[in-house]
Amino acid sequence: SQGLMKGKRGLIMGVANNRSIAWGIAKAIHAQGGEIAFTHQGDALKKRVEPLAAELGAVMAGHCDVTDESSIDAVFETLEKLWGKIDFVVHAIGFSDKDELTGRYVDTSPANFAMTMNISVYSFTAIARRAEKMMTDGGSLLTMTYYGAEKVMPNYNVMGVAKAALEASVKYLAVDLGPKNIRVNAISAGPIKTLAASGIGDFRYILKWNEYNAPLRRTVTIEEVGDVGLYMLSDLSRSVTGEVHHADSGYHVIGMKAVDAPDI
Ligand code: NAD
Repeated sequence: SQGLMKGKRGLIMGVANNRSIAWGIAKAIHAQGGEIAFTHQGDALKKRVEPLAAELGAVMAGHCDVTDESSIDAVFETLEKLWGKIDFVVHAIGFSDKDELTGRYVDTSPANFAMTMNISVYSFTAIARRAEKMMTDGGSLLTMTYYGAEKVMPNYNVMGVAKAALEASVKYLAVDLGPKNIRVNAISAGPIKTLAASGIGDFRYILKWNEYNAPLRRTVTIEEVGDVGLYMLSDLSRSVTGEVHHADSGYHVIGMKAVDAPDI
């Protein structure tokens, strides 16, 4: 181990199971000597996250549902007592009613629009505000986004609109927190079969399409996204803030379908 994260401690939010992008990032951070605390959303996920935390010698910092501000406060109070300061936070959280991740965007309901924006966008800002107080030696905040923020992807709908707002908030937060040497970035990951992704209509088709058409002719793994996360959270990226970095086998640069995809 080169120890790129040696002496750094931080919070990783959004592990649901061992297929989560947050778990890929956690493994990369741990391999480079970083110390990690996880949150979990509810008792059902606690049972899944606990053994994963044990694997990395990570701390369970408690339940956090980002729609409940008091549960966010409780997590940061726990970290304050445990470590006093932190160096990084990973926000790998998103949610929308799966009934609205299919069909037309125009049919989005006001209730689901507000919920999707609250959980998938506002929560990053709510977390950044609390993290700022504990990042007394500077720090790195990282969130996860998708190409559906930039271009219309089938069925992504309200989540695409939310990711566009999330990417804009990365820039505003980068300006607010930059003077404290706190960096704010996003990774725009290519499609990966996770729990959250299974709510998106025709997701298998999107995966195949990316595999056939991305310049690298393959989809990405959570380990690959994890390594990009390592770069964003370590001092390797110390000059980088306000950035949306694609980890998508290059898919975002293509203007036309590159090859035939006979079996989709
Ligand atoms: P995942 O299902 O493993 O993780 C989603 C996480 O969000 C879960 O841990 C869940 O507990 C958490 N979450 C949802 N609502 C919450 C709430 N109210 N409070 C607290 N936590 C809540 O799926 P994933 O694909 O690893 O998703 C992580 C992030 O990556 C999401 O922001 C997602 O949009 C983004 N992303 C995913 C892909 C993909 O193809 N899988 C691509 C690009 C970006």
